[in-house]
Amino acid sequence: MRIVLMGPPGAGKGTQAAAIAGHLGVPHIASGNLLREHRASGTPLGKQAGSYMEKGLLVPDQVVINMVLKRLRRDDCQRGFLLDGFPRTGEQAEALDKALAPRGVQLALNIAVPADELVHRLTGRLTCRSCQTPYHQVTNPPKAPGRCDLCGGELFQRDDDKPEPVRKRVEVYERQTAPLVAYYRRKGVLRQVDGKQSIQKVQEEVLSKLAR
Ligand SMILES: [Zn+2]
Repeated sequence: MRIVLMGPPGAGKGTQAAAIAGHLGVPHIASGNLLREHRASGTPLGKQAGSYMEKGLLVPDQVVINMVLKRLRRDDCQRGFLLDGFPRTGEQAEALDKALAPRGVQLALNIAVPADELVHRLTGRLTCRSCQTPYHQVTNPPKAPGRCDLCGGELFQRDDDKPEPVRKRVEVYERQTAPLVAYYRRKGVLRQVDGKQSIQKVQEEVLSKLAR
């Protein structure tokens, strides 16, 4: 199975990815982890990526593509893989299919969450000022309002989680994802999953889509 998993921040994508990969017995390849590994071990690709990140710039598509393709050539990907966080753009999706030719991506699962719901979820995040433990006003509230369950520290809303930056992040995500979703729809491999449900329900739906 050659699977791509797409989903917005705050949709439990990492949890889903690990569950699906475990279920199918294929490696879960998260582009964010790959990037960190390359940087930590100082590979040429890691150094290239670092030179952009240190300037606060986005790592170019081609660098990320090279990292992912290198990883997919390893033995454990012979029986398939699950990609998480890649591709992120139409250009990356085309490069991936080219590299996998004559076969391409078999299944592109998109955990779809409406923009308003995403903003609502992401602005509900709270963080402990002392131990950084994350909470959520609705889905994972602390036992005592405004206090960390673990250390009693004060909970606060990080600047990143305030409405204005969250709305911007959601807009960027939608702008980036739309062409990707369209690309996989054209290829006939797109499956939409309703991301408004609980993480557990989403998982059930994903596994049933895989069984078909
Ligand atoms: Zn705490």
